[in-house]
Amino acid sequence: MNLFLLLDEAVMGYKYVFGPVFSGRLGRSLGLDLLGSRICSMDCVYCEVGKTDVLTCERKAYVPAADILRELERWKGEGHELPDVITLGGLGEPTLNSEMPEIVRGVKTLFPSMDVAVLTNSVTLTDPEVRKELLEVDVVLPSMDSLIASEFRAINRPCRGVEPQAVAKALIEFRKEFKGKIFLEVLLSRGYNDSDENLAEMKAFCTELGPDRIDVVTLSRPGTLDKAGPVDSGTLGRWKKALDAAPSKNRDCGPETGVKDRSGTDNSAHVLGEVSDAFDRIQASLMRRPQTAQQLSGALGIPLCEVERAIGELEKCGRLHIRQTGDDLYYDCRLDVDS
Ligand code: SF4
Repeated sequence: MNLFLLLDEAVMGYKYVFGPVFSGRLGRSLGLDLLGSRICSMDCVYCEVGKTDVLTCERKAYVPAADILRELERWKGEGHELPDVITLGGLGEPTLNSEMPEIVRGVKTLFPSMDVAVLTNSVTLTDPEVRKELLEVDVVLPSMDSLIASEFRAINRPCRGVEPQAVAKALIEFRKEFKGKIFLEVLLSRGYNDSDENLAEMKAFCTELGPDRIDVVTLSRPGTLDKAGPVDSGTLGRWKKALDAAPSKNRDCGPETGVKDRSGTDNSAHVLGEVSDAFDRIQASLMRRPQTAQQLSGALGIPLCEVERAIGELEKCGRLHIRQTGDDLYYDCRLDVDS
């Protein structure tokens, strides 16, 4: 463990619980980090948590369920405003944690009425055991960026031997048994996976899969590789329309319907009392991913002026990386980020 993580633990008090952060798909989401470090079955060029340190498909108890649940119980005991959902994710691929079933059961015991969501790059779903474990959650958010093997390798840089068609087939198998919601995400990066060939394949795949929602997005935050850039709005619109138009076997409403649009939620009404608490939460959130001041304010329910003051303090301490993307300034307290 490096010094900064020790500092994180000592100052913020949490290693595996973070947020809440605002998610356009889920609302206010309290995150659980199931890996504790950058362990993933992919090393995507656009990854917002940075370069994967351990590229693996091996499942292990990277963080024991008991450690995560102990923190979550403490968080609950502190009387915070409840989020909309608890999301298993973090610094890598959460389904690689072999104690995921215990974690899901523990979360549901602590928060019986709350939805549990899992972010996944979909690779482990080729394992029937993982598919079985995921049947216990409420929302699965898989990503699938390309069904063209060469593009898949270039943008996602997966473990050796992972093939996109096998992953797609596994997702379709999962859909047949899973009673919860599937929110599919397709991230487009210019020159990597925005080909017409991929669009045709993805359209057929979405028709077969029938997710409850499809989000076609492009890079809005700095990724691992500088050369990985966003697609233009015309391309994004064309893809959204094409995948939106895909007739579905399972979807009973359009990709964006049936899910509340939570942009501009009532987070502003939630005002935190303690400035130091606000500072810690802002710093903890920026250690997970880059965000603008407005995003932090919306996600954490902290007034913008408070966020800007904390950002000023972090900058003075030399803990902040700042990057401009378009008109937006992104702040970032992660380790090993190129300034
Ligand atoms: S974006 Fe997700 S799947 Fe890709 S490297 Fe980062 S954590 Fe892994």
